[in-house]
Amino acid sequence: MHCSFCGKQEHACNVEKWKLDDNLTVDIARTKNICVEDPHNTEKKVICEACYQADLMNGYSDAELIDIHMQFGIEYILAGRITNAESAFRKLIGIKVTSDGLAHLAYCLAAQNKTEEARNFYFHALEIDPNHAMARNNLAKLK
Ligand SMILES: [Zn+2]
Repeated sequence: MHCSFCGKQEHACNVEKWKLDDNLTVDIARTKNICVEDPHNTEKKVICEACYQADLMNGYSDAELIDIHMQFGIEYILAGRITNAESAFRKLIGIKVTSDGLAHLAYCLAAQNKTEEARNFYFHALEIDPNHAMARNNLAKLK
């Protein structure tokens, strides 16, 4: 797989199931470097981290950008890079305020002990989707 923008080759990866919490399992394509599937160029193309950070995704639809920010945000969480994850989810909700985006942003804030801010974003996520399991369960765990 090669990056859609710089052409850098990313190593072949396996899709693994990752558990973020009790109710959220995601399919993650594991690679040595962080990269995500490119929803705009589906011929086995990926977006590498450098090109993502350089914000090269011109002409992408909002839905595609939301997908990319969500994928990178989750990759950053799994890599333990919480502040990078936070900024990915902030970019996501800058495009569209979604319950998923808010809940993941709240998760990042809670991980940084920004409890009050996290609580507000979980509440906001639940206003949009009262059944959002991740927001509901993680909010219950916040003290
Ligand atoms: Zn690239």
